[in-house]
Amino acid sequence: MTRKYFQKHRPDQISAAGDPHWIFLTPAQAVDAVALDFQAYGPQPDLFRRSAPLILGKQCRITARNENWSGVSVLRGTTFDPVEDHHLGFYLIHVLETDPPDLNTLADICRQVFQTHTIAGPDRTGTISGIWTHAQMDRFICRQCGECCRTLDYETGCEESDVRRWRESGRTDILTWVQTRNISAGDSGPTYRIWVDPDTGETARTCPWLAPCPDHADRFMCTIHPIKPEVCRQYPFTAKHAAMTGCCGRFAAPTEPPVSRNP
Ligand code: SF4
Ligand code: SF4
Repeated sequence: MTRKYFQKHRPDQISAAGDPHWIFLTPAQAVDAVALDFQAYGPQPDLFRRSAPLILGKQCRITARNENWSGVSVLRGTTFDPVEDHHLGFYLIHVLETDPPDLNTLADICRQVFQTHTIAGPDRTGTISGIWTHAQMDRFICRQCGECCRTLDYETGCEESDVRRWRESGRTDILTWVQTRNISAGDSGPTYRIWVDPDTGETARTCPWLAPCPDHADRFMCTIHPIKPEVCRQYPFTAKHAAMTGCCGRFAAPTEPPVSRNP
């Protein structure tokens, strides 16, 4: 389960006022987030067909090769050549990074990629223009299936702030499962690995802090919930993140569209 997706978009980029599910991204961060999406989930043919015209403009065509196949063809010289989906994601990212679109087009691209509401506009301080995107997590309902805690892939996702929190709480039991790699010349600080079994030295695939709920046989709970790692607090980060990583939580029906906001 890809929890680290989006982790670089830290909570300090989330508006402190109004709806906290609106997230502000600078244009560079928005392009970075699109690149992360394309890399994290592999080829997404339908998405590529919708977003390629926004990214490539008249440099591309959606073409049908036969009755079962349609794809994106890219202008090379004077002809349009088909590009296979497993190359297309990299190509679209390359064009986005080297020839960024205007803000409104970038908002349209983000809307397609993140499958949510997006708005181009200034940040909360009014000093930077960028993209507001709504994570939709206000409607998320976790089923407590525990699946995301049984297929861990975030072993390098532990942060200094997590370790500091556990030290300050005197949680030596948690720290026992944290492997520290000390600083060497050129490093910015120590790095941490979780959850490393103190007896075997193996990285656990199922989290040691996952336990059955005492009153629901088919539900599970995090026994360190109040101080769990940040990577767990942020999962799933968006509705698409949940859908693409196998989370079986559900989303309550929207009562109304998120309020368009000028932060
Ligand atoms: S720390 Fe808690 S939320 Fe994170 S994987 Fe373990 S049980 Fe799940
Ligand atoms: S519903 Fe999603 S977030 Fe909740 S325990 Fe299951 S996989 Fe994890």
